[in-house]
Parts: sequence; structure tokens; C-alpha cells
Amino acid sequence: MTPPFPGRINRVREKIATQGLDAALITTPENVRYLSGFTGSSGFVLVSSATAFFITDFRYKSQAAQETHGLEVVILKKTLVDEVARIAGETGLKRVGLEAKNVTLDLHDRVIAAMPDAELIAVIDLVEEFRIVKDAGELDKMREAIRRAESSLTALLPRLKPGLPEREFALMLEEEVRRAGARKIPFDTIVASGLRGALPHGVASDKKLESGEMITIDFGAEAGGYFSDMTRTVFLGSSPTAKQQEIHDTVRKAQDAAIAAVKPGVPMVDIDAAARKVIVDAGYGDYFGHGTGHGVGLAVHEQPNASPQGKGEAREGMVFTIEPGIYIPDLGGVRIEEMVLVTATGCEVLTSFPRELRCL
Ligand code: ZN
Ligand code: ZN
Repeated sequence: MTPPFPGRINRVREKIATQGLDAALITTPENVRYLSGFTGSSGFVLVSSATAFFITDFRYKSQAAQETHGLEVVILKKTLVDEVARIAGETGLKRVGLEAKNVTLDLHDRVIAAMPDAELIAVIDLVEEFRIVKDAGELDKMREAIRRAESSLTALLPRLKPGLPEREFALMLEEEVRRAGARKIPFDTIVASGLRGALPHGVASDKKLESGEMITIDFGAEAGGYFSDMTRTVFLGSSPTAKQQEIHDTVRKAQDAAIAAVKPGVPMVDIDAAARKVIVDAGYGDYFGHGTGHGVGLAVHEQPNASPQGKGEAREGMVFTIEPGIYIPDLGGVRIEEMVLVTATGCEVLTSFPRELRCL
């Protein structure tokens, strides 16, 4: 049987060959899922030029056989390290790559102890580099994850009322997202109302919503292992103050500028700079302290980053967020977050939920 993603395994093989490695042990859960299709919570992939093993424990025996067909399933008898050492001994693997961003010092030391003749090489972004550009199947799942989030917010916005605790709304939203089909909630839902809106990551609290407040809602959904991430700031009441409206308008313009900047070949730092310029020019530069966007996929935060430290250029098939914000202590905050897909000529905004400052 062929593996679920033979192309992905082969790309890893090509890459480890160019790095002079005999094999790579993949331990990062998202990378394991990307290469094997395995949806359980404990599994590892060992790829060499000739073989590809999927290593898991007894709990996942039948699930691994169903999901990772084509990979040679190994059920742990003792520990992961023992199995890797056994396979390396039997198949002559000497130079083995370990994922530097995921492997703990403890695991590293245990592998060295179990494989004294092997050479362990730190590999960085071995699989992440492939995950950065999405294929059609991945995009279908991401569109569905976005749809699940948007339909949930649409259903629940009428429930935002003065007196409702932030946490209560977050709970309703997470329940609705799961009802829509998501198996996971990608991160703690942010509901930041009034002055709490000045906290960029104001996870929902016991604070009750009040009339006249802006409320920033940042949440996500999931479909087929892929996440979505969106933010809207809404107004509770009939008419926001001029200042509230101005901040919201500025964030929207910043977002428009960043979206207009996205096309293949544009440095990621320039996409961030496009949004930042609008906010700085409006006099709010001191109140926008985070990057403009991040990649989304099997992880809710992944490469690329549209930030002042962002690396590389936009490439067709990348999916990332555009989420500028303004956070003013003693006043509150606004963030609007869209997901965009880089196309051949620019980008497609995947999120369709209206962006204007909705009055509820
Ligand atoms: Zn978000
Ligand atoms: Zn985000």
C-alpha cells in the first residue's frame, strides 16, 4: 500500500539526503500528522532513504494501521528510544537527524546513551518548510475550519448583551464551534471588552459586558486537523464614540494596506510594514506592539510570520493572518484578523465575515 502522503515522505528523503543524513526522527506532532496522516496524540515517524516507520504504542495499534497505511507500523515494546536504537542497529542508520525545536535535552541524552555509535544531527524546519505552502486538500480543510468559525459567530452575536460575562460568551462560542464540527478548540478564546480590550491576549474573564464597550473576540475552529483563526471587534450599543470609530477605521485601513501588499515575492517584513505605516501615520504607532500576522495550518501559529522579524517572501499557496491592532491603556483596543491565501497575482481573503464595527 502506498502511504497517504507519498510525496511528502519523498521530499523528506530528498532533503535528508542533501544533508548527508541516514534518517530523520520526526517527533513534532503536527509534522507527524503531516507525514503520516495519524490523528492520535502519540506517534513518531522515522524516515530513511529506504524505509518509513510509524512508531506508536499499544493504544493506537488499530488506528495507526488504518490511518498510516504504507508506513511500517512499529508498536513500542519498551520506549521510543529503544525502538529507534533497535531499528538503527538493524538497518545501519548512523547519522540521524533530530528535530531541534521539539526534542528535549532529556530525549537527546537518552538517544545518545542508547545509540553510542550514532551521530545525532540537529535539524531545523525539516518538515515545517514543506508545511508552509498548502496543497488543495489542505486548503479545503482550512476553508471549512473558517466556515465553522464564521457560522458560529454569526449565530451567537445576537447573544452579546450587557451583563453577560465574557467567559459565558467564550463558552457559548466554543460549544457552537464544536457543534459545527470542530474536534478541537485551537486556543483559549479571547473575549476582551471595554478596558480589557487593551490586552492583546485578553482571554475571556468573569468581567461582565457593558453597554458602550468595544469587545474584541479572537477565536478559531478546526477541520480535518487544520485550524482557523479570526478576530472581530464589535460595539455593544447604538453608536460608538468618535474615538472608538477612529481607532477601528485605522485598524481596518492598516489591514487593507497589508492585504494589498500581499503577492508572491514580497518580503514578509514589507507586509508587516504596510500595516504598521498606516497605524504609525495615524499617531497610534506606540499602541501596536505585535506582528501583523502568522501562518496557520496544522498549528494555529506557524510559519511564515508577517512581522518586523519575519523571514522570507510570500509564496503562492501560503496561508497567514493579517491582524493589526491598536491597544490603548485606559481606553480599550481593536483588532481585526483575517486569513489570506497567497495566489499567483495577489491574495484571496479567506475570511468573509463583515469587518465594519458592528453595533449590537
Ligand atoms: Zn486570532
Ligand atoms: Zn492570529
